Order: sequence, then C-alpha cells, then structure tokens
Amino acid sequence: MQKTGAITETARGDILDRNGKSLTGSYAADFAIISPNWLSVSEKQLLLEKNILTSLDDNKINTIKITMENQEILNELNDKTPGVFIYNKSVRYGPKALATHTVGFQGQTGIEKAFDSLLESDVKRYIITDGLSQPIAGFAFNDKKSWPWGIKLTLDKDIQKIIENVMDKRIETGAVVVMEANSGEILAMASRPNYKQFELKEYLNQENAPLVNRAIESYTPGSIFKIVILSAALEENLTDLDEVFYCSGFEKVGGNIFRCSSFEDGGHEEITLKDAMAFSCNSVFIQLGLRLGKDNILKYARLYGLGEKTFVGLPEEKEGNIPEKKEIFYQDLGNISIGQGAIGISPIQAAQMILILVNDGVFKNPILIKEIIDQDRKEQPIGLSKQKTGRILSEETCRKVKETLEAATNYGTGKRANPQNKNQIGGKTGTAEVENNNSHAWFVGYYPVKTPELVISVLVERGGSGSIKAAPVFKEIVEKITAIDNN
Ligand SMILES: [Zn+2]
Repeated sequence: MQKTGAITETARGDILDRNGKSLTGSYAADFAIISPNWLSVSEKQLLLEKNILTSLDDNKINTIKITMENQEILNELNDKTPGVFIYNKSVRYGPKALATHTVGFQGQTGIEKAFDSLLESDVKRYIITDGLSQPIAGFAFNDKKSWPWGIKLTLDKDIQKIIENVMDKRIETGAVVVMEANSGEILAMASRPNYKQFELKEYLNQENAPLVNRAIESYTPGSIFKIVILSAALEENLTDLDEVFYCSGFEKVGGNIFRCSSFEDGGHEEITLKDAMAFSCNSVFIQLGLRLGKDNILKYARLYGLGEKTFVGLPEEKEGNIPEKKEIFYQDLGNISIGQGAIGISPIQAAQMILILVNDGVFKNPILIKEIIDQDRKEQPIGLSKQKTGRILSEETCRKVKETLEAATNYGTGKRANPQNKNQIGGKTGTAEVENNNSHAWFVGYYPVKTPELVISVLVERGGSGSIKAAPVFKEIVEKITAIDNN
C-alpha cells in the first residue's frame, strides 16, 4: 500500500437534555466521496445522468449525501470502483431536533451562539485514505483520546416533546415555558412558529419570523400583571382579600375611561378583592393601582424581576419593559394597573413571577444551563450570571395571592385550565389588548396546589381570550406530563 493520508472533519460539542440525550436531532447518514479520476467513461456517464457529475470532464473530488434518488447507483459503484466510496458520518441538525429556538443555530442564535467557542473544538475526526486519496473502509477515529466540550441543559426531552406536540396543535404563534417549581430549572421551553435548522435559509425572510424565540420576547401582559398589583397591595397592607369593592363596569382615571369585562352586564357591582382577582375585574384593580401609586407599582414589578433579563443564557433575551417613574402620568395608572400600556413581559418572566409565588416569596431565577461536559466527558458545574436571591414578599402575601389564583381556576376566568377538571391548580388568565383589535392570550399557573411541582406560562400571540385560548393549553400540557409520571 502506498503512503496514507486522511480526510478530516472537526467535531463540535453536543447540546444535551438533563439526561444526556442530544437535542439537535443529530443523526448518522451515509455520504459518498466521488473521485472521477478513478471512474470509467461509462461509469461517469451513469453519474452524469443522475446529475451527480456535471460533465464528463468534471474531475473534482466531491462528497455528496446518499439520497433515495442516488443510493442505488452509488451503492452499485461503491462495490465496483474506488471512484465511489461510501462512508457514514454524523449530521448535526436533523428533522427530529427539539427546542430549536433554545438550541439555536451554530454560531448564530441560542445556546449555539452563547457557547459557540466552548462547543467549537480542535478535535478532528479522521477518515484514513491511502496514498491515492481513497478512504480505507473502517478507519475513522478521533485524533486524541478527548472529546469536544458539550453543554447539558435543564430541559427534559420527554417533556419538551410533549409541549411541542401540544403547541403544534394549538398554537400557531406563541411560546410555552415549563419550570420545575422547586429549583426553577426549565424543563421545557418552545416557540412557534417552528423552523428547521437544516433548512435555515428558507425561514430567514418569512413574515411570521419563525426564527424569533418568543419565549424571551416582550409582550403586553394584560391581566397576568394583576399578580404584581395584588402582591404589592397586600404586602403594603393597603387591603385584604375580603375587602368589598364596587365595579360599575368601567373606571375613569383622569380623562381616560377603562372598561371592565363586565361592562355589558352593568359591572360586577359589589365584589370582594378575592373574587375581583378570580373574575379579573379591571375596575377593582384600577382602584387598587391608584391606592398604590406609581412608586409602589414600579417597586414590586422590579422586585419580581420584571424589566430585566432573567440571564438564562440566551443571547436574544429581551428585558421586557417596566417604565421609568417620570414616564408615568396620573391617567396612565389605569392602563398600568391592568397590565396594558407601557408594560412588557416575556413568557419566561411571566413564569418567573409564579416561580417566586410558589417559593413563598423567595426570589428565584429560571435556570437553563445545568452543566458543562468537558473533554474527558466529565460534568463540570457552571456558575452563570448574576443570580439574584432573597425574599421579596412575605409568606403571608404569597399564601393570599395563591388563594386568589386557585379561586380563578376553580370558579373564575381560569376554569378551562383545570386538568381532569379537578381543582388542583392555581393560575391567572390574561387577555392583553394590542393594536388592530387583537389580543395576546396568556395563562400562567402552577400544579398541583399542594406542594407545586410545575410552573407553566403559555402565550398565544394574537390568540384572543386567555381564558379560551391559553388556559386549555396549560390543561393539556399538565395532563400529558402527569400521564408520563404515572407510567
Ligand atoms: Zn369589574
């Protein structure tokens, strides 16, 4: 045999779920190396007919993927001539990829961008060739006894698959975030519309922006912001759940009139604070917002971590919007108290609000990166970002807020979120008015009521009513996740 050489390709680190399963959908596929100088004219003719060669004079060594169309001829020639050599290699992005927005695309978006330099490696994979550049079958290996560094996320592939299937049926545009209630670890997170990493170019200029990760974009929250107003008013001892308010169907603030959903029916009339939350009464929350004043509203919004990134590790994350004090005038308080106007929250921030409540008022950051896998395939902890800690609300306030969220799902606007129609959850709907008579549909909540395990936020962009469009998504996701747990 003549002196050997090699064809090399560089290995790239993998992005894994919490159990070490790859999320990129990578798969092994057969490729053929075509060396025209080794082909007879009749063999060239055959390849020309299949558009594998461009002309009889095409002498470039070329690597092509084996497809349904070319497999027969290439397999046949593989056995006959050194001019065609078939080998197996790993393809990074496949059709079974999950969490495509979180994983992102090599060097450009998501974890693939944030950890680009870590995932890059100088670990080369060699396919050994003889002196005539013909690969020798079976001789492929990594150059050192080492591996490229990888990233292990907190996502759970099974749960990720569940939410993506539910979203494919129910959400054209929007996002879902599922967290473990105790730790704040994100078990699943997805955005729609989806895209395929291996056909990236086709999605670049689409009007519905499938490459945007909507789980970390900012949206008008509507009534899910009432959680902030209620927490602030309770914590500041300005009210209690049994205080009776009056809703006449609308509220006037300065020159602005804000309607309650009960406007057509003449208002909720006398209503307790607890029921005002359960039925999402705008009038009561505007009255509360005025009682609180802008300083308190902004203070508690910021305590909840709104208006700043959660620093989950995704470069595209938006901070949302909590306005500055000087930007808010008296008549704006009506809007802000019901989560309209200048307020902007991302689905991951919305989940974070519930995360803090189910942790009895102790601030928690969502966590997405679990650990790094080093070159010896050992797991290394990762110290990410500025994690905030500390108590932001009393246990008493959290207990009361949760009581209203449980009322909302037992008999109020969140009824459609109940898994198996058992009252085992707490949560809040939001129907956030945006331009052109459109509304974003929200639902944020937790399951089960006693010792919560899951925190979930659902956003259906321009989906209409939170109660009708977002709450049932929550219900179906909880039903499906608990079904795998029970198996
Ligand atoms: Zn009302």
